[in-house]
Amino acid sequence: MKSLQGIAASRGIAIGPAFRFRRVDLCFERHVVEDPAAEWVRFQAALVMAQEQLAEVYAKAEAESGAEQAAIFQAHVLMLDDPELLQAVRMSIEEQGLNAEAALGDAAEMYAEMLEALDDEYLSARAADVRDVATRVLRILLGVAESPTAGLDVPSVILARDLTPSDTVLLDKSLVLGFCTAEGGATSHTAILARGLGLPAVVGAGPDVLDVPDGTEVALNGSDGVLLVSPDAETVAGYRMRQMAVDTVLAKAREHAREPALTQDGHRVEVVANIGNVEGAQVALEAGAEGVGLLRTEFMYLEQVHLPTEEAQYQAYRAIVEAFSDLPVVLRTLDVGGDKELPYLDLPDEVNPFLGVRAIRLCLARPELFRPQLRAVLRAGAAGNLKVMFPMVATVTEVRQARAMLEACRAELLVEGQAVAERVEVGIMVEIPAAAVMADRLAAEVDFFSIGTNDLSQYTMAADRTNAELTALASGFQPAVLRLVRDVIAAAHAQGKWVGLCGELAGEPLAVPILLGLGLDEFSMNPPAIPLAKQIIRSLTMDEAREVAQDALALDSAEEVRALVRQRVPSATVA
Ligand code: PEP
Ligand code: MG
Repeated sequence: MKSLQGIAASRGIAIGPAFRFRRVDLCFERHVVEDPAAEWVRFQAALVMAQEQLAEVYAKAEAESGAEQAAIFQAHVLMLDDPELLQAVRMSIEEQGLNAEAALGDAAEMYAEMLEALDDEYLSARAADVRDVATRVLRILLGVAESPTAGLDVPSVILARDLTPSDTVLLDKSLVLGFCTAEGGATSHTAILARGLGLPAVVGAGPDVLDVPDGTEVALNGSDGVLLVSPDAETVAGYRMRQMAVDTVLAKAREHAREPALTQDGHRVEVVANIGNVEGAQVALEAGAEGVGLLRTEFMYLEQVHLPTEEAQYQAYRAIVEAFSDLPVVLRTLDVGGDKELPYLDLPDEVNPFLGVRAIRLCLARPELFRPQLRAVLRAGAAGNLKVMFPMVATVTEVRQARAMLEACRAELLVEGQAVAERVEVGIMVEIPAAAVMADRLAAEVDFFSIGTNDLSQYTMAADRTNAELTALASGFQPAVLRLVRDVIAAAHAQGKWVGLCGELAGEPLAVPILLGLGLDEFSMNPPAIPLAKQIIRSLTMDEAREVAQDALALDSAEEVRALVRQRVPSATVA
């Protein structure tokens, strides 16, 4: 038995024969055509066909995974409409007389390389989308229809170098038990899609994945990021039993997803969703979200090629607030910088972007960026239960400045006669250790806190959250991080303020009992994690949760913390 360690991308277990996803080699010759005008027409016909295909792929993805996951394919359609890309192809065909395949290949590669050179994880990942969409058009131009899964006729575990979003969504789910890729990171679209589809997945398991012959029995554990090749019968039996147990628990949890999260002794906490756009709202509601604890507004900015106007922001925020009617929506103001760059802002390079002029620092320095967003927030607030929070706050002064700007925008809107929210609760993300340490002072300035454990862990542990080798160190289970969480909650409660947590930790089954015991009021997470988190909360009394939390905080390591919860809270050991 051989074990390959990758990155856990989508929870669940898959056992079955291996099937190697073979991408068809799209070879073409580069040549000069006789009739460039006709060649351009041929290219445009292929584009139309690609758009039709994408509409089908979108419909399939939307039906299977919801509109948020499917939005990737809308982005692909937009890429096919990109004037710069089309102009580059047209010039190669009409001016150099190149064949459409070569013209498209050149233009797409140039575009993809430009995105990769931006040294930005999000935009670099878009390079894969450009190549994916260009390959689709190329396939049409070449008349190549063969599927990379030709020959897949029994349910199998797919092994691949990497899978594009289209590859993933087009997989025949009745024949795919899960997948493992040699390359790729946990934040790739493919990993996100796998989660949405409920397919167990491991990514970044290294090139050995590609040496596994078709038909070899493999067992994949998407929760631990492990692929076992030719596992022994005992291991397989153990995996199967675990799989059955997980399936049963998750199915039961989903049946009660829309019910409140009440502990055995009647204490209620809010379980809400992290979303990034309008499409996410519906998915979140279906998963049982009682509102939104984190609307990452920068995702909407990242999807654009220029700064969204106040009006565009207002429309998007209003649509989300209306989708949730009376339920709360916590909107986080622009959190760019660090690993989230907006090329159209043309920000100066920084040696340490994670410690640079980002998020609230950038917004305060650039009122022309911040004010339209604050105005849009206040206007959208008139339509429902909208709250606003500022990211990456380190000092009391920053909160006061941001609040002053919010109030100035409100005064302006009132003078203009616009409808604005009478009162918008204002909070901050507590994700910098300085804010955690100063929580008692900051609590006096705001209505609520939302703890961002993704960043709080990386800054507390001095461990880059995007570095795969430091995953264990940059973890919210580190006792140092949990102690800060405890102190922040206590400081806020001492002043009657509520506290949420919107880092990934909130949706981690093993963290839920601890956070509950620490008195967290609002748990905000990826929508698919909601049903199970609610079920764990319902299985506990507050006294039990408090005891687990207290004991966990006395431990020395993240491993010990996890082991303790596993031992004490059976309902949290699923998956
Ligand atoms: C966090 O830092 O925990 C957080 C929720 O924000 P983001 O992951 O967007 O930085
Ligand atoms: Mg953060």
